Parts: sequence; structure tokens; C-alpha cells
Amino acid sequence: MSYFRPNIDQLAGYVPGEQPQVGKFIKLNTNENPYRASPAVARAITTALENGLQRYPDPLATAFRQRASALYGFPPEWILATNGSDEVLTLVTRAFVGEGELLRLPYPSYILYKTLAELQGARSEEIAFEGDWSLGDKFAAAAQGLKLAFLPNPNSPSGTVLSPERVLELAEQLPCPLLVDEAYVDFAETNCLELVKRSDKILVSRSLSKSYALAGLRFGYVFAQPHVIAGLVKLKDSYNCDALSIAGATAAIDDQAWLAETRAKIIATRGRMTERLRSLGFAPVESQANFVWAPHPAQPVKPLFEGLKQRQILVRYMNYAGWGDGLRISVGTDEQIDACLDVLAKLM
Ligand SMILES: *Cc1c(COP(=O)(O)O)cnc(C)c1O
Repeated sequence: MSYFRPNIDQLAGYVPGEQPQVGKFIKLNTNENPYRASPAVARAITTALENGLQRYPDPLATAFRQRASALYGFPPEWILATNGSDEVLTLVTRAFVGEGELLRLPYPSYILYKTLAELQGARSEEIAFEGDWSLGDKFAAAAQGLKLAFLPNPNSPSGTVLSPERVLELAEQLPCPLLVDEAYVDFAETNCLELVKRSDKILVSRSLSKSYALAGLRFGYVFAQPHVIAGLVKLKDSYNCDALSIAGATAAIDDQAWLAETRAKIIATRGRMTERLRSLGFAPVESQANFVWAPHPAQPVKPLFEGLKQRQILVRYMNYAGWGDGLRISVGTDEQIDACLDVLAKLM
């Protein structure tokens, strides 16, 4: 006898990429940044700690909102700070999609989206990318019960982007809100932020986990029109961001020089890595994120994943039904990527 709602009982549960707590792994499996965050982050957290944690944090992370407002040119009421950008995904699913209703997502993409629909007791519908990773109008078609669409842009695992013009077209056709998940956008050439001003159906989420090297801090945020943000505030936990993460996140976005330097290093490594993967016979997709999706047209890649793991190098093996499999390799330091590719060359 189970006391859980049936959809919870039936749920397999989202399994994040491995986070080994022992051993010396080269971790290229969860798209973390290989570099240390700006030193300003540790200083800000230390100061916040020394000031004491006896009081509840600011429910709206006003300090962060104001700095983000200045940086991006949106008034603070257009921004909501969250406990990682995964919290944005949870909030919008709960806000817009009721039991039995429909959530739309592209395929292959971030696996968590589907889990969020299942938790809600909602249905989900996957629309396949075209062979060139574009997305057809089918993604925007009306459907019974359709209440929300998720679009990771850049996408995972492909690292590809849809242009802001294309995203706007899709949003205008869709009968429901569109959440553009820009977790990786700091590594891309375009972004969809300005679209938020065009339509209250468009929300754009961001994360400090990847580009700011703060996956361990748990901080994200979302841009939307003020009445949409006000609606989301009703759903969130009162104190969804803690005082230390607010202090650290505010310092992080204040150090744009750090971001520019780190982004340049990662983009340079990504280019070298893509070339070398190609020379090993992979068919890597040109990425605008901090990982590269590498299928191999001529050789099974699962044994390569296992061989790497035996040598303490973790990458992500993904097998998408009806699409094929491949390795998704996060962009590490040059040394980490050389080590990974040297082992791959030996294994092949
Ligand atoms: C990593 C990731 C996130 C979540 O980021 P957090 O801010 O760490 O919660 C969201 N969307 C995609 C596509 C991601 O890869």
C-alpha cells in the first residue's frame, strides 16, 4: 500500500550526472566550469557569514536583482532570483501546467523537463529536432491542453542554438508561454533576452552554475514581464535563496571581466576539442555551449565511455531512442581535454 500519488509512484525520478565523492576523476560529464569562480565571490560570502546568519534572507534577493537590472537593462520587477535555474523550471511547470494538461519540449533535450511534467501529473509531448538541429513549426502547433513549452537554447546535448528571430516566430504561434532555458547562453553568440519585452508569453531563465563556475552555490534567475514575475513569486518558497548565495551571486555578476576571460578560454578549448574529435572520426556538432556532442558514425561509443571511466575520466554517454547515441563531453581545461582525447585515441 502506497500513500504516494499514483504519478509519483510511477515516476522513475530524474538521475543527474554522476558526482563521484571519492577518487580523482577528471569530470567532463555535467558541464561544470573547470575554473574557479571570481575571487570576489568567496570574499562576499565570507563577509555575509561574518555579518551573521541569524536573520532570514531578503525574500526577493533585492541586491542581486538591482545589479542584474543594471547589467541587463531590465527593471528589477522583471527579474526573479531562484535556487538554481532548475527552480525556475519547477516554478513555471507548477504555475502553468495542471494535472492532465500538456507540456511541450524538443527532443533530444534536457531530460529533467519530462520529469517535471510527470511530477505534476501532466502529460508531455516531445517534438523532434530536424537533422540539422532546427525546430519545425510543429513545435508551436496548438494541441489539446497545451499550457507550456520549454526550449533549451543553447540546447543540450547538441550545443546548438535557434536564432532569436526563430524563437520569436515559435513563441508567436504557440498558444501558451514559452520558457527559453538559457543555462548555457554565456557561451553563445546570441540570446533571447530582448524578446521578453516583446511578449508576456516569453520567459528567459539563466544560471550561475555553468558560466560563472558556481554549480555548488545554487543560483539562477528568470526574466519575464512584471505581472508574470509577480505570479511566480506567489508560488516560490518565501526564502528560496539563502543569504550566502545571494551575496555570492551578486559579487559574481559584478565581475564581468572574470566572465569574459573565462568564456574566452572555454570557447578556445571548445574549438580545439571539436577539431581533434573530428580527426578521431567523430561527427561533433558545432557547439555554442560549454560541451560538445560527439556521435561516431563508424564505431560504437559506449565502450569508449567505459574505457574513459576506467581511467578516471567521466564523460556523459547518452542514447536517445530513435536518434542515436554519442558522448557529451564538457569543455574542461586544455590539460583535461588533452588527457581525455589522448585516452580516446588509444582506445580507438
Ligand atoms: C544545468 C542546466 C540547468 C540547471 O542549472 P542550475 O542553475 O544548476 O539549476 C538548466 N537547464 C539546462 C539545460 C541545464 O543544462
